[in-house]
Amino acid sequence: MSLIGIHAAVFTGTFDAAGLERAVIGAARAGFDLIELPMFDPDNLDTAFTRDLIQEHGLHATASLGLTADRNISSANPSIAAAGESFMSEVIDASAECGATDVCGVIYSPMAKHMQPATPEEIAVGQATLGRLSRHAAQRGIALAVEVVNRYETNIFNTAAQADRYLDGVDAPVGIHLDTYHMNIEEPDMFSPVVTAGERLTYVHIGESHRGYLGSGTVDFTSFFHALDARNYDGPVVFESFSSAVVSADLTGTLGIWRNLWSDSADLAAHANAYIRAGLASAHTIREH
Ligand code: MN
Repeated sequence: MSLIGIHAAVFTGTFDAAGLERAVIGAARAGFDLIELPMFDPDNLDTAFTRDLIQEHGLHATASLGLTADRNISSANPSIAAAGESFMSEVIDASAECGATDVCGVIYSPMAKHMQPATPEEIAVGQATLGRLSRHAAQRGIALAVEVVNRYETNIFNTAAQADRYLDGVDAPVGIHLDTYHMNIEEPDMFSPVVTAGERLTYVHIGESHRGYLGSGTVDFTSFFHALDARNYDGPVVFESFSSAVVSADLTGTLGIWRNLWSDSADLAAHANAYIRAGLASAHTIREH
C-alpha cells in the first residue's frame, strides 16, 4: 500500500518551529501518512526538532527541492557543479536527520526556464554526479528520485521516456518521480508514462492542472490511478498544491504562483486526502473485471 502524503507548502511558507508545527499538525489532521519537506535551506532547518515533531504525530517523511543556477550538478562550470554536489550532500544529510526516506524533485538541474537545450557535456556531468550522490544517499538510508518536470522548469528531460534513458547513464540506483501536473503538459497520456518508468518509478506527485483543488482542472486522474494500480505501485503518493495564500519565498517566483487558488489549507488538504484514497481504491475495484 502506498503512503499518501502532502507537501508542507500547503500549510506554510516558513520552516521555523511555528511553520513546521502548522505543516505537521495540518498533515496529520487531514489524514495523511506522510509529509514532504521542502529542503531548500538545510542550514537553517532544525533537523532534530523536525524529526521529533514528525514522529510525535505518527507521520513518515520525505524531502524535495529544486536546484538553483549557482548550485547546479549539471553545470559545465566545475566550481558550480562542485557547489551543487556539496549542497546536495548537505540536503541528503539533513533529510536523513529529519527521518526522511526519499529525496526527490529537480535535484539534477536548476528549477528555472532555460533559454537553450542542455549540452551532452552538461548531461554527462549531471549523470556522473547523481551516481556519486546516490551512493552517498544509500549510506544514509535515503533513496533519490529525479522529478520529471515540464519544459519551463528544466532542459534535461521532460518526459518519463527521456528520464528513463537519462538514468541508463547513471551508475547507481536513482528512481523516477512523476508528477501529474507536469505529465498533463508534456506526456501523450496519463497511463503510458507509468508503464515506461516501470520499476524505476519510486515517487509520485499528485497535482491538478492549475495546482489547485483536485478534480477542478483537466488532469485525467482516472487513467493515472489505473496505471499505478496496474503496476502494483506502492511508493509514496504525495499531494502538491500551491496558492498565493501560503507564500514560500523559494517556490513562489520559481513556480509562478501568482493566483490565490485556495485560502483554507485544512479544507484543501482533507479534500485531497479523500480524493487520492478514493481514486486509488476505485481503480483497484475494477482491476479484476
Ligand atoms: Mn512536483
